[in-house]
Amino acid sequence: MTTNPQTCPQCALDQTHVEGATHVCDTCGYEWPAELAEAAEIIKDANGNVLANGDTVVLIKDLKVKGSSSGLKVGTKLKNIRLGTGDHAVEAGDYLIKQEFVKKAN
Ligand SMILES: [Zn+2]
Repeated sequence: MTTNPQTCPQCALDQTHVEGATHVCDTCGYEWPAELAEAAEIIKDANGNVLANGDTVVLIKDLKVKGSSSGLKVGTKLKNIRLGTGDHAVEAGDYLIKQEFVKKAN
């Protein structure tokens, strides 16, 4: 059990604690979800620009794609990317691409 400075939204008392991802009020028993302790991982492109979900990026390197003879060519635009975590954090359609191989399109 960790001490929790959060005030209960139900009874407005601050006798609360955290259980896993849940805040629990010791006074009235009300439970509510804890905010994520850490902000999402910041993903940066080859130029150090921060990428966001929905961005369009351009490949700066030819990439081989498993199961495809053509692969992805440098200069290919990938629209509406999704960001994940780790070193292949850029998700574009079926592709997972290293963020260091793309740059944000203007
Ligand atoms: Zn309460």
